[in-house]
Amino acid sequence: SALAQVAHPEKWPARKASVLVDRQAERTIDRMLARMTLEEKIGQMIQGEIRSVTPEDLRRYPLGSILGGGGAAPLGATPRSGPAPWVASRRAYDAVALEARPGHEPIPIIFGFDAVHGANNIRGATLFPHNVALGAARDPELIRRIGRATAEESAASGIEWTFAPTLAVPQNDRWGRTLEGYSEDPALVASYAGAMIEGLQGRAGLARPIARGFVAATAKHFVGDGGTHDGVDQGDTRVSEDELIRIHFAGYGPAIDAGAMTVMASFNSWNGQKMHGNRSLLTGVLKERMKFGGFVVGDWNGHAQLPGCTADHCAAAFNAGVDMAMAPNDWKALFANTLADVKARVIPLARVDDAVRRILRIKLRLGLFGTPRPYETKPEVVGSAQHRALAREAVRKSLVLLKNDGVLPIKANARVLVAGEAADQISQQSGGWTLTWQGDGNTNADFPNAQSIWAGLAEAVRAGGGTATLSPTGAYDTRPDVAIVVFGETPYAETAGDLATLEFEPGDKRALALLKKFKAAGVPTVSVFLSGRPLWVNPEINQSDAFVAAWLPGSEGGGIADVLVGTADGRARHDFTGRLSYSWPRRADQFALNRGAPGYEPLFPLGFGLAYAHGGQTPRLSEDPGLDAASVNRSVVFSRGQVRAPFALQADPAIRQEPVDTEQAQGGALRFGWSGTAPVRLRFTGPVLDFAREAKADHGLSLTLRVIGQPAQAPIIALAGGRLSGAGLVAAPGTWQTMLIPFAC
Ligand code: BGC
Repeated sequence: SALAQVAHPEKWPARKASVLVDRQAERTIDRMLARMTLEEKIGQMIQGEIRSVTPEDLRRYPLGSILGGGGAAPLGATPRSGPAPWVASRRAYDAVALEARPGHEPIPIIFGFDAVHGANNIRGATLFPHNVALGAARDPELIRRIGRATAEESAASGIEWTFAPTLAVPQNDRWGRTLEGYSEDPALVASYAGAMIEGLQGRAGLARPIARGFVAATAKHFVGDGGTHDGVDQGDTRVSEDELIRIHFAGYGPAIDAGAMTVMASFNSWNGQKMHGNRSLLTGVLKERMKFGGFVVGDWNGHAQLPGCTADHCAAAFNAGVDMAMAPNDWKALFANTLADVKARVIPLARVDDAVRRILRIKLRLGLFGTPRPYETKPEVVGSAQHRALAREAVRKSLVLLKNDGVLPIKANARVLVAGEAADQISQQSGGWTLTWQGDGNTNADFPNAQSIWAGLAEAVRAGGGTATLSPTGAYDTRPDVAIVVFGETPYAETAGDLATLEFEPGDKRALALLKKFKAAGVPTVSVFLSGRPLWVNPEINQSDAFVAAWLPGSEGGGIADVLVGTADGRARHDFTGRLSYSWPRRADQFALNRGAPGYEPLFPLGFGLAYAHGGQTPRLSEDPGLDAASVNRSVVFSRGQVRAPFALQADPAIRQEPVDTEQAQGGALRFGWSGTAPVRLRFTGPVLDFAREAKADHGLSLTLRVIGQPAQAPIIALAGGRLSGAGLVAAPGTWQTMLIPFAC
């Protein structure tokens, strides 16, 4: 049986039938399957990326799907495009896919992208707070409304499928994707899962096909993404079957009951076995026991991480239950190799038919075969006033007040100085996953319709008769009544966000210096902290009179002013209602902080949040981060992955390049070690890269990379600990090259 590797099949929740299966539709699918050639069937099972598939390609390779990965541009257009060129791209693919040709079964593609906090790839879209913030709002109905708005903005852009929601239950905040999870608490994730799916898709069991303005959702990453050892992205989740079910599986029952149309396999392993190859969980649990009727999509070259597999060849993932492989660049060779595997019966034809049936089922359910297409809705919904008001409400509800020694709410007629490098930076307040994958390289002009935190504060204070001045460096002429310091993490996505410790950017003491300066001058201060997770900021909290965890609020910075700025006579206009959905660390080395972990002793526990209605004094906190060299001298194992973010920095001549061992580079895991207290965060620049990494001595990380995109000649830069530490490399396409990044930074 497919359940062979799980010890206790009976412990996994069972269901009787799928809300996605409809008898009449199944008969239509039977007829289509009977007419399709093997090539057409294999094509359905492969998804390529918009940057490497032309509409003409679909003539020879009848692919089932196209994705726009983080930062992708529509066909023939520049990145940061609005809805129109996206709709045009969608139509250009369909024109070929739906063309009447002899011996060709016209099947529409399904077009997907990551709308993970609003339709974030689209210029002008409403950007909702990231999931870490939404968790603090503890409001499933709000989540449903956000799903609905996100669906409308995606559909208006020609997209009918989003790779969201993330149902991870992060157990270690060092993980770079903590911001994508609603909570460390499985019950909270479970309470949001169905609401988000129904918000995005509508009630799947009731509307057949899906109504216009809704999109297919993806429950991801199945399963255990938030439980990896040391919080390493794409790492190994070493937990018992009971723990996997109780913690990491919590969102999937509600998601499937709500009719989730797709599930994405996760990059992580469970006890050493990669999820893309886990037949017991993908087929046995998900499809057979839970009767999941939609299709399983792989993650970005996730199949390539299986033993014996490469990006362009992997029967094992399909055999394990992946129905559609995400093969952004290598789709052509994967198509040929998969076809050969089926002909050689390495992949059974019945498996192909099952996968294609599931994909066609969802395409029918989405109404893609009919006219009008579900995405033909009004473009003016993108960034509409109504959606922005909803996002602003979400910002208000997600703020968590950690300290208030009486300075808040700010009187609307006060003289307010707004300082800090993040005060007027829409890209920083929005975090990763915006117009670029890493959320970097964007200016305020790239976000029409959005409002910075500064702009929102200025509006509120000026309307109340006060004065507002922006000075990122904290300079002022007239002594202000209060200073607001906005600071926090610079944007990142995925592996780039992994941390060695929970200390907030140890190299960046700018906010602390500002707070100290104001304190010395007797100016009361409010800190607005932007982050994708709780971090150790005790020195900053000590120096602040009030401290607000604002997470990554997105495009509606004005929501912060709604709560911070009261009336002229000092009454609050909105109280704080947000409560932590993650525990806040007392020390920077408190890695596994979830309830039940040994030594659980957070600074602010899960559920903590002050309000004006019930304040409280915050005692002085210890400024000892709890770190010594030994506590951070650890080794991290990464699997092969991909890097897609252009990231412009200067190269450091100290970098040494070493000859490459191709065999090793293909091999799989990456391992690196370092010592000292500086957290190491790596970021890469350049064209599309594939990378493998390997262990080196304590002095540095050796990276093995291969350029797989255009332009071929571009520097690859790595950043560690918030500062440039290494690496310029000019690589020829397709060849593996190694560079060394020293950790003495
Ligand atoms: C991420 C997924 C995402 C995919 C497509 C991957 O790197 O892990 O969450 O949906 O890229 O952009």
